[in-house]
Amino acid sequence: MAGRTRESDYVVVGAGSAGCVLAARLSEDEGCDVTLLEAGGSDRSPLIRIPFGLMWVMQSPRFDWRFVTTPQPRLADRALAFPRGKVLGGSSSINGMTAIRGQEQDFDLWAQMGARGWDHDSVLPYFKKLETFARGDASFHGKDGPIHLSDVSYRPPIADAWIAACAELGIPANDDFNGAAQDGAGYYQNNMRRGLRSSAATGYLEPNYGRKNLDVVKRAHATRILFASGRATGVEAVVDGAAQIFRARKEVILAAGAVQSPQLLMLSGVGPEGELRRHAIAPVHRLEGVGRNFHDHFDVPVIYRVRRGTALASQYTPLRAVLHALRYAATRKGPLATVTSPVGVFARSRPELATPDLQYHVALWGFIGHGAIKLPGDAVTAAVCPVRPTSRGTVTLSGTDPMAAPVIDPNYLATPEDRRTIIDAIRLTRRMGEARAFAPFCEAELYPGTGVQTDDEILDYVARYADTVYHPVGSCRMGDANDPASVVDPELRVVGLDGLRVIDASVMPCVVSGNTNLPVMMIAERGADLIKAARGRTTR
Ligand SMILES: Cc1cc2nc3c(=O)[nH]c(=O)nc-3n(C[C@H](O)[C@H](O)[C@H](O)COP(=O)(O)OP(=O)(O)OC[C@H]3O[C@@H](n4cnc5c(N)ncnc54)[C@H](O)[C@@H]3O)c2cc1C
Repeated sequence: MAGRTRESDYVVVGAGSAGCVLAARLSEDEGCDVTLLEAGGSDRSPLIRIPFGLMWVMQSPRFDWRFVTTPQPRLADRALAFPRGKVLGGSSSINGMTAIRGQEQDFDLWAQMGARGWDHDSVLPYFKKLETFARGDASFHGKDGPIHLSDVSYRPPIADAWIAACAELGIPANDDFNGAAQDGAGYYQNNMRRGLRSSAATGYLEPNYGRKNLDVVKRAHATRILFASGRATGVEAVVDGAAQIFRARKEVILAAGAVQSPQLLMLSGVGPEGELRRHAIAPVHRLEGVGRNFHDHFDVPVIYRVRRGTALASQYTPLRAVLHALRYAATRKGPLATVTSPVGVFARSRPELATPDLQYHVALWGFIGHGAIKLPGDAVTAAVCPVRPTSRGTVTLSGTDPMAAPVIDPNYLATPEDRRTIIDAIRLTRRMGEARAFAPFCEAELYPGTGVQTDDEILDYVARYADTVYHPVGSCRMGDANDPASVVDPELRVVGLDGLRVIDASVMPCVVSGNTNLPVMMIAERGADLIKAARGRTTR
């Protein structure tokens, strides 16, 4: 049974991309106090801060929950590793640092799906508020936000060649995917400041650790939300092995991410009737949408053997590695300051589409399973991701033990549309790899390999090599309060309960056409404003 009890106005569960933003913004008001509970520990590690450390943080039990999906029927029954950050900063501390907002149309679609007030014009000010980016059109970019964006500094000729190859196919060069249009090929912006990771923890928490009204509790695993008469009153958590209660005078805010926010709701008696009954959990409130509408991006690698000396593998002879380390120490530039995929492309699988439906992460080395298998020798990996998947999966409970992982089923490629799109995508990628501009570098297609040509052969390849792009969303969907699929209303309040919100990746009605870290922080920035506005209403 729970021992010590602590009390604050707001209890935020999860110090990830959303939780750090919420804790920092809510504690700006000295008139209220905030407790932030995080199951993981400190993010003070060079592996997290130095971009190249990315190779080691994923799958490290110190920083990653190390979840695994259910066997995926359309992916040759493979159960995929499903990394999620377990550390201050959450997944923003272990992610690839690719900074993308999505397309204007994504947010307008959210609004059409019942998320009133989340159209592009309404969310743009929050994207600007969260970032500092030195260049770019001021009508799109922020100049003094907590998250720093940097241009990729390492631009070898082979990376330029891929961008030129795209131009041959009519895909224009784009030097700002977060500006007026996302279309095109170019270098990514990264969440980095002077060659170091700029995470939700470094941007939002670190400058504010001194605040007296902000209590950041590490190694605090929330196990249950407490309710009284339909109102969330606090959270039970295990802190360093001992149970504690954290009472919330005003609100409990779940920011545990798209896997664990629905898990915590269901463990606390809020969820689909069948799921609660299956585990004999006393229902507090039946909400059929909890854990449903779960979806994720996946990608598939197309890999080329390239001329020796033109890509990254040949940069890592022992001598060169020392030189790169020295250069990084002196200038914070070079390959060590480079994330895995410097080049991006947003393209259409079918020319008639109004906006791109494919995103590429183009890496200057050869790998499968996002680094699980590294290919020897110089290679380029063009990982192609259909950005608007139609397949939907679930997060359900494996049992009633809050320390146990939930059952994660993204249900990749369940729909014929998704299968059609990835077949077309692989064919388009090959046209890029065969373009004149890339020819001086390219020696051979290694994967899928020229023996893979028909639709069935391509799908078989996809089944064996597709992997998550780490963007799960949708499992506590935002929408109109009268829509039975909604878990939260457009003010991010859990439908039918008081004093409880979910603010993280799980509220996206559908995934954005791009990476999810900036959109999650945008959601939290706006969520914090909604909470502040509600407090204004109640204190007046
Ligand atoms: C390996 C990887 C690479 C990625 N690459 C990119 C990229 O390059 N660009 C991009 O834009 N996005 C990327 N993403 C996705 C992006 O980082 C996430 O979408 C985003 O961080 C999700 O934010 P969140 O706040 O919803 O969840 P998280 O940031 O995952 O935060 C959830 C937090 O809650 C904590 N928590 C969970 N359960 C409990 C509990 N019961 N009690 C207490 N604490 C709990 C977790 O430990 C975690 O700190 C990547 C993600 C991963 C994992």
